Amino acid sequence: MAKARSRMPAVFFGHGSPMNTLERNKYTETWRKLGESIAAPKAILCVSAHWYMRGTAVTAMEKPKTIHDFYGFPRELFDVEYPAPGDPRLAERVREMLTPVEVQMDDSWGLDHGTWSVLKHAYPDADIPVVQLSIDGTRPPQILLVVGSGNVVHNLGVMKRGGGPAFDWAVRFNEKVREALATRDHQALIEFERLGEDARLSVPTPEHYLPLLYIAALQRNDEEMSFAVDGYEMGSLGMLTAVAGMPAS
Ligand code: ZN
Repeated sequence: MAKARSRMPAVFFGHGSPMNTLERNKYTETWRKLGESIAAPKAILCVSAHWYMRGTAVTAMEKPKTIHDFYGFPRELFDVEYPAPGDPRLAERVREMLTPVEVQMDDSWGLDHGTWSVLKHAYPDADIPVVQLSIDGTRPPQILLVVGSGNVVHNLGVMKRGGGPAFDWAVRFNEKVREALATRDHQALIEFERLGEDARLSVPTPEHYLPLLYIAALQRNDEEMSFAVDGYEMGSLGMLTAVAGMPAS
């Protein structure tokens, strides 16, 4: 019998290219192992970089659709479905918990690739209910596996599509973020723009970085942040996956 656990870890996935859905590499293998090592949650609440909007919303439908929110990728990727059920009662609970923030009960979004490109590996059976929270909220509840999906470094404008080493600024920025996570320096994470040019290049728009803050916010003082995998893709995508409060196995 799995040992009772009062609290789930919180995971920030560096999702990178949607093609990771179809690939097997060091990132996807780490995601798969994370899914296996975290006791099956009752539900997953995901803050995805790809649902970045004005206001706060939760997906409240019974059967969220799989959204293919990209273009220029092979047919195979558009055929991917992640038919995890929704959880309208959980969505309602999230709405209540976020009071006084006004939360819209959404029935038009679904699961975007920030969510399914990683859950396809972590929970391939798609049998755990998934609710997405748009980026804008405050504290998510604690009974769930809370997942943030983005990238610490995410600059598509200078990406080396044919591959290549990481830019120096990307490495410097990523290292600073890791240091802040390791020392629970949440203020430094929030004020990342103080890192100047390195931050401006690594985070040209905030949506891929912000999910990390939701995960850092859930880290308690007695919990370690562990770095499950890290690396750089195409020079300017930081692939750090970080876990707050992973129980020792
Ligand atoms: Zn993305």
